[in-house]
Amino acid sequence: MERISLLIRNGYLVTMDDERRVIPEGYLAIRDDRIIDVGEMADLKGQYQADRVIDASNRFVFPGFINTHSHLFQGAMKGLGRDKGLFEWLDSSVRFALHETGYEEVYTAALLGCIENIRSGSTMVLDYHYAHAKEAGLDDAVMQAFEETGIRGLLGRAHTNVSQMPDGAQCPRVETEEQFFDDVERLQQKYENHSRIGVCMAPGIIWDLSEEGYRHCRTLADKYGMITTMHTLETKDDNQFTQELYGSNTMPFLAKTGVLGPDFLAVHCVDMDEEDFRIFKEYDIKVSHNPVSNMILASGVAPVPRMLDLGLTVSLATDGSASNDTQDMMEVLKTTALIHKCHLKDPTVISANEVVEMATLGGAAALGREEDLGSLEAGKKADFWLMNPRTARCVPVADPVAALVYHASQGNVETTVVDGRVVLDEGRITTVDEEAVFDRLQEVACNLRKRVGLGNTQWGHRVFVPPFVKP
Ligand SMILES: [Zn+2]
Repeated sequence: MERISLLIRNGYLVTMDDERRVIPEGYLAIRDDRIIDVGEMADLKGQYQADRVIDASNRFVFPGFINTHSHLFQGAMKGLGRDKGLFEWLDSSVRFALHETGYEEVYTAALLGCIENIRSGSTMVLDYHYAHAKEAGLDDAVMQAFEETGIRGLLGRAHTNVSQMPDGAQCPRVETEEQFFDDVERLQQKYENHSRIGVCMAPGIIWDLSEEGYRHCRTLADKYGMITTMHTLETKDDNQFTQELYGSNTMPFLAKTGVLGPDFLAVHCVDMDEEDFRIFKEYDIKVSHNPVSNMILASGVAPVPRMLDLGLTVSLATDGSASNDTQDMMEVLKTTALIHKCHLKDPTVISANEVVEMATLGGAAALGREEDLGSLEAGKKADFWLMNPRTARCVPVADPVAALVYHASQGNVETTVVDGRVVLDEGRITTVDEEAVFDRLQEVACNLRKRVGLGNTQWGHRVFVPPFVKP
């Protein structure tokens, strides 16, 4: 008998393999961090002796979602700057709060964000971390949250060169490009052999790096095999700013620097013209689609059906909790299906199957990880989750993929496995004290709002101060 660490039996497996097989009564054999065998229960003949067996009867097993764009630190800023467009929202809330966001805010918010990702079926998140204004080393707070919660994490080490606050005050701390690239290399060296955690480059938006900086991104991308991700064409202002700065539109400018390629992950891509489509196709640029955030900030509708027709890789993401205001990937799946049907007044432009592909295989391809993530196949990483459909919202199930996209919710995510480790076990987070994180973040977020005079702190205090915040 072969010794394995985990055996999932009697589950309805939605594999997302090349043939898109579903196995109505199947098993998954896991040794350490990898799936070593996938098959039908009829073929399971006691060949494995597992340290742990999970009976998945009446459960659906899906590959983990890959959330390709978040800002976990914004978990401390939920609900701020409501009913505003992108730049008004940034200038009236996030950019002031950044000032005061230190290690504890980032760490506690990231813990909560990782927990919610795990609770909504995400086994991996790309956290685009741009809070560096208060002190150095805040990326390490996100890494600590990845370590402790057990989620697979890719830290997008961001750079911003904005030196003034919206009120004209000087930012407390502005990094040079050199400091930024040094820190990317430091993080790369620290995590290069880690099984779950890695780093990539994340210039904030078109004006956050010089032309030379984008060239350097290409050098490091080639040297380390790391991706570059950037907020791209989120609104029409993007091209307008690039015109003012460089005398051309964003995508032709980026093409000229050499940074574009299949390892470039463009986030949002709402305001696309014909030339942009051509450049995306030519360089095989990957897309991160964030429909809930785009709706909240009224940025517009990304032309995703057209991207799919062109054969571009599209992945899904929540964006940060200050512009979503959650980390709920289940909500993103449903929204993705609905927004494009409604926008184009055509129910056939996107299917539930395509949405699940974007959330799994699309995410893996967007991060250059299609070899080991995105499906339930022997040899891939053991990243998956079990859906228990027994809730009023979800039963009855006619088709598991339709159920997942249209009538399931976080409440149906029962068990989540990352890198072969059970991090959500029948509804209970196994890695950190979830209740303590709720309490701590409530206090930390309330204090942050108080320090920067944002939001209705009285309301927050009246409801939540006792026992979390001392008067
Ligand atoms: Zn973003």
